[in-house]
Amino acid sequence: MNKSNFPNYQHRSGWNALLPERPARASLKQDISIDVAIVGAGYTGLAAAKRWQELAPGDAIAIIDSSEIGEGNPGRNSGFLLEISLANDANPNEISRMQRCNELIAASMQKILRAVENSAENCQLKRRGTYRAAAGKAGMKALQQYRSFLEAANLPYEELSRDDLAQRIGTQFYQRGLYSPHCYLAQPAALIRSLASQLPDDVQLYENTAALNLHQQGGGWIIETAEGNIAAKKIVLANNAFAKFLGIGKSQLVAMYTYAGMTPVLDQALLDGLGTDENWGLLPTHRLGSTLRRIEDGRLLVRSLYGYEKEISHNKVAKELKENLDKRFPQLSNIHFEQIWGGAVGFTMNGGSIWGQVKPGLFASCGCNGGGVVKGSLFGELLADLANGQPVPNVAQLFGDASWMPPEPFRAIGFQLISRLQRFLGRAEI
Ligand SMILES: Cc1cc2nc3c(=O)[nH]c(=O)nc-3n(C[C@H](O)[C@H](O)[C@H](O)COP(=O)(O)OP(=O)(O)OC[C@H]3O[C@@H](n4cnc5c(N)ncnc54)[C@H](O)[C@@H]3O)c2cc1C
Repeated sequence: MNKSNFPNYQHRSGWNALLPERPARASLKQDISIDVAIVGAGYTGLAAAKRWQELAPGDAIAIIDSSEIGEGNPGRNSGFLLEISLANDANPNEISRMQRCNELIAASMQKILRAVENSAENCQLKRRGTYRAAAGKAGMKALQQYRSFLEAANLPYEELSRDDLAQRIGTQFYQRGLYSPHCYLAQPAALIRSLASQLPDDVQLYENTAALNLHQQGGGWIIETAEGNIAAKKIVLANNAFAKFLGIGKSQLVAMYTYAGMTPVLDQALLDGLGTDENWGLLPTHRLGSTLRRIEDGRLLVRSLYGYEKEISHNKVAKELKENLDKRFPQLSNIHFEQIWGGAVGFTMNGGSIWGQVKPGLFASCGCNGGGVVKGSLFGELLADLANGQPVPNVAQLFGDASWMPPEPFRAIGFQLISRLQRFLGRAEI
């Protein structure tokens, strides 16, 4: 079996490890023939399945995932569900486009909220807003740009000084910050478990079932898995960076591995010194900066580092994440992470996605670029609309279309050079 066709992580998801054991649904063990096969049970794949079933209730739909729900990529993120554009998408000169994107994203966020409000899983989904903060020159420039976007879009925000930030989140590390209310925070492994548990009964979900190969046959498609082939009239690829191993997006997608460390629940004495806000998230202004969260049960999380196409060694990850935490919270120098884990982000050169019908009967939504919980849910739903002849907004025009990247080895060399330069420019934010 070609392991690189799907993610195979060195560590368990720290979020999933906090939840009770969940028995996985059975893997595929025989050949099947269906109308629609969806590869990837993440935010994109689940939203596509749900919407497809609403539009064409008679279609037989199967969804396969190489991992288990909660343990795979969708349960590994930092749990920010933004209702407005990401900072690196935010362009003050294109306000009408951004406003349309924001409307679509906000509507998708509301659907996620409604979907999980009566769920048995405690997704900890709360509208806590988000901080963005800058420590150095590059961060300050990006913060200023984001502020201009918020101003131009007439979106509310608060400006925060170093002392304000210290008072609210307990760190003197940042020079300045902004607080924007347009963000929910969640426990991502619980969230994806909840969304998967609400799949319509007639959608078949196979876990621990990787798509290893894909080819056309007759008027349809065959997906090869380890123990059975799936013959489908239509395919939806919702497996993010790994779509390229099935032949889609080879010249557009890169798998970037990024890492999170989570502390144990901190003692009350330490928590008392960590500011007045007891449940918060902070996003970096610079693209290589670190994300922070204080989780409602009294843990801190830090996310940082990028590995090109492969995982970074555990020792390097553990050392750098700890340094990042200590720089921000020197009072935690004796605290060690309880969990460390990585996840793969489907990265494209210009931040656009691969979205739409890429071959006859083959639909794809891949390349989340690090902010795909809400956007993936939106794109999955719209992809089902497109495949079923419903009107859809112009996704490429609104959100961007993944641009071409040079082949290897030039691609890897280019990434190393750009990331070294960015690491240098943004060194104060890391
Ligand atoms: C550490 C980290 C922090 C992040 N923080 C945030 C955040 O705070 N907010 C945010 O919006 N985004 C965040 N992201 C990105 C976010 O996780 C993704 O944007 C989001 O999960 C994309 O959803 P998706 O369904 O499109 O793809 P994915 O979540 O990547 O899901 C794809 C699914 O496909 C499966 N798969 C892959 N290959 C195969 C195959 N060959 N066969 C079968 N199944 C396959 C995978 O197991 C996976 O379950 C973060 C990512 C990481 C790694």
